[in-house]
Amino acid sequence: MKIMKRPNILLTGTPGVGKTTLGKELAQRTGLAYVNVGDLAQEGQLFDGFDEEYQCPVLDEDRVVDELEDKMGDGGVIVDYHGCDFFPERWFQIVFVLRTDNTNLYSRLEGRGYTGKKLQDNVQCEIFQTIYEEAMEAYKEEIVHQLPSNEPEDLDRNLEQIVQWVEQWMKDNN
Ligand code: ADP
Ligand code: MG
Repeated sequence: MKIMKRPNILLTGTPGVGKTTLGKELAQRTGLAYVNVGDLAQEGQLFDGFDEEYQCPVLDEDRVVDELEDKMGDGGVIVDYHGCDFFPERWFQIVFVLRTDNTNLYSRLEGRGYTGKKLQDNVQCEIFQTIYEEAMEAYKEEIVHQLPSNEPEDLDRNLEQIVQWVEQWMKDNN
C-alpha cells in the first residue's frame, strides 16, 4: 500500500499575529495535524531555565526538536511558533510569516493582557520584522512567504491560498 505523502507547513510570526487562529482552521480544512510548540513545551515541560526579564520559562529547543522529529519525518504537520531558527530546515516544505500592522497588533496584545515592556517589545519585534528576517535566514528564501493578517478577510484569503497550495503539493508529490 502506498502512503500518501503530505507536506509540513510552518506558521510563524510575532505573538498575536494570528498563527493559532489560522493553524487550527487550516488543520480542519486540510486534515493535516496541528502542533502548537508553546503548548507542546508546556505539556512536556520542555524548558531550560527561566527568563527573569520576561518572567517566563525558556524553551529547550533541542528537546522540542527531539520530541517532534519522528512526527515531522512522516509529514502532514502544521507547526505554530513565534520563532523558527532552531527547527531543522529540512522539516518544512513551506514557511508562512504572518504580518500585522502595529496598531492592530498593539490592541490584540493589550487584549491578551500584555503591558509595559512585554507589550512594547513584541510590537517592536513586528515593526523590525524580526521573525521575517529570522525565517529568511533559516530557510530558502523561495519557500518563505509573508501573509497579511489584519482583518477577517485576510484570514479567509490566507486559508484559501494555503489549502490550494496543499492540494497542488499533494498532486505533484504523490
Ligand atoms: P498568535 O497565535 O499568532 O499569537 P492568535 O491566533 O492567538 O495569534 O490571534 C491573536 C488575536 O488576533 C486573536 O484574538 C484572534 O482572534 C485575532 N486574529 C487572528 N487573526 C486575525 C485576522 N485575520 N483578523 C482579525 N483578527 C485576527
Ligand atoms: Mg498562538
